[in-house]
Amino acid sequence: MRTGQDLELSHVTKRYGHTVAVSDINHVFTNGSYVCLLGPSGCGKSTTLRMIAGHETISEGSIILDGTDVSHLPPAKRGTAMMFQSYALFPHLSVRDNVAFSLRMQGQDKATRHRAANEMLDLVDMIHLADRLPAQLSGGQQQRVALARALVTKPRVLLLDEPLSALDPFLRIRVRGELKRLQRELGISFIHVTHGQDEALALADECVVMNNAVIEQSGPAREVFSHPRTEFVARFMGGHNVIDLDGARYALRADGVHFAPAGLPAAVPAIVRTIEYQGSHVAVTSSMTTMGENTEVLALIPEETFFADPKNPGDAVGLAWDEGRLHRLQA
Ligand code: ADP
Repeated sequence: MRTGQDLELSHVTKRYGHTVAVSDINHVFTNGSYVCLLGPSGCGKSTTLRMIAGHETISEGSIILDGTDVSHLPPAKRGTAMMFQSYALFPHLSVRDNVAFSLRMQGQDKATRHRAANEMLDLVDMIHLADRLPAQLSGGQQQRVALARALVTKPRVLLLDEPLSALDPFLRIRVRGELKRLQRELGISFIHVTHGQDEALALADECVVMNNAVIEQSGPAREVFSHPRTEFVARFMGGHNVIDLDGARYALRADGVHFAPAGLPAAVPAIVRTIEYQGSHVAVTSSMTTMGENTEVLALIPEETFFADPKNPGDAVGLAWDEGRLHRLQA
């Protein structure tokens, strides 16, 4: 639901000399939602985030939060807070003083600062380490301190620039669960930049996919994944094949492709190229010939189905899918 408290980007453009980093984007970030901004390196994600935070000026357009144009306000006056990729903790300050730092800058007294910092440290489960220095913490713990430090100003929008990229894969999955829980508890908007599709699908209420300085598609995570509008989105989100049939281009989900029983006329002949065991699924790449073109098709076959009738590279197979799984792409 749209409310006056949403964050709105209106015709926002950023130029660096002749480079257009962000080109005339329009978007409404619904209040209280978890939004992932994703896309390949260089597409303009960080620039967009920095402009929202006020760490970067905008060349054209405006940023409106809570009905107020904040485009020209300094970062601390916007109602946003940013958590950086590098965490940027002050090495000589204790955990508690790091969290309280921005309140000190605001001139709040020590008792108030410490009370607010303790509350945030409690929220991220770090209160027991409040007197340590950053160097005495693990990567995951530093990340939580950075999060507490960003939240202590009670922002309406928290901006996170690849917050999980410094963590090992195991920790990344745990911390992303915590981020989601925190966002729900606080009820504020999180805008999280990532280049990871899995991360975006796991976290986002809304996915905003950027490409070449513009928003290519946005919507609920499930809709963007299952109904990619363009070839770019289908390929970027992964798990899809892009195939040409009857003069049109389609996305076909890899989990919608199966091997047809021998002799079924609807099956498309193909040769198995690679087989990868992935646990619950087996990823099988086959090449088929359509309209004189060789196309690689990925099929994600449930493990039990695959091993009931295993294939090998070089095998001739028939590929099949339900017509309903073909999803036409914009040219
Ligand atoms: P992303 O976060 O998606 O990787 P960025 O927003 O960092 O992309 O960059 C978008 C484009 O703007 C890139 O072409 C990048 O080289 C350019 N860019 C980013 N920051 C600067 C800068 N400070 N000066 C000049 N060009 C920049």
